[in-house]
Amino acid sequence: MLVNGNILKKAKGKYAVGAFDINNLEMLKAVISACVEERSPVIIQTTEGAIRYAGIEYLASMAKIAALQGIPVVLHLDHGQQLDTVKACIAHGYTSIMFDGSHLPFDKNVATMKKVVSLAKGRTVEGELGVILGKEDNIKSAKNFYTDPNAAELFVKKTGIDSLAVAIGTKHGLSKKDISEGMKKHGFRLRFDILKEISERVDVPLVLHGGSDVAPADIKKCIRLGVAKINIDTDLRVAFTKSVREFIKKNPEVYDPREMLKPAMESVKKVVKKKVREFGSYNKA
Ligand SMILES: [Zn+2]
Repeated sequence: MLVNGNILKKAKGKYAVGAFDINNLEMLKAVISACVEERSPVIIQTTEGAIRYAGIEYLASMAKIAALQGIPVVLHLDHGQQLDTVKACIAHGYTSIMFDGSHLPFDKNVATMKKVVSLAKGRTVEGELGVILGKEDNIKSAKNFYTDPNAAELFVKKTGIDSLAVAIGTKHGLSKKDISEGMKKHGFRLRFDILKEISERVDVPLVLHGGSDVAPADIKKCIRLGVAKINIDTDLRVAFTKSVREFIKKNPEVYDPREMLKPAMESVKKVVKKKVREFGSYNKA
């Protein structure tokens, strides 16, 4: 069934719900079938880029069908940048909205989030404070500003949001190689001290973006400190593309897209199942 992001309240402190970015039928089917098999609640999310690519009517209709399989499904806008997108998502039945005002000055971010909360009526709203390093769709950030715990407390109080995305050192869209080289060079690490302070001041479930490269032990720590939603995008894209590339190389004579995409769906499904296990959300549907 289609539900809103209040399922995160139940998860907080115990497990995290995976939020998987999808932009086509194959990705969606792979994510849903993995979560049905694991009996896990799931957040299906689409960026503005995915909406431009597939069309909001297609995405929303597919997600509604995907939600008929007996597990709780949240349909979520990831990194909304325009109020018009927020309105379109609400009109098409999205149950949860993220508006990313993290690049705005604090007061402007608060004012915009308040507007989103007032538009949302019954849908849950995720806000973001601090900037997450890397690149997701058209959103780029070269500097990493950690979330300030004082500002986080004020931001949640002033806006009335339902969940808060925090910047504690995770990254969008970077390869494993980039991360390990970055670690060697700059000593990248997750700032659990900041996360702990935020969780002591903020009641709402916390959200981790750029979760693809975070080690399982660190995921567990984040969950204990109040992270209840973890976004996964890069790992799915990598699994899908790698599988298509390998298939074409091995089978240059095949011209049926279904033959090519079946193994890609299997690869994505495998990644999702692994994440669901790591996040502890299996058997929680
Ligand atoms: Zn993100």
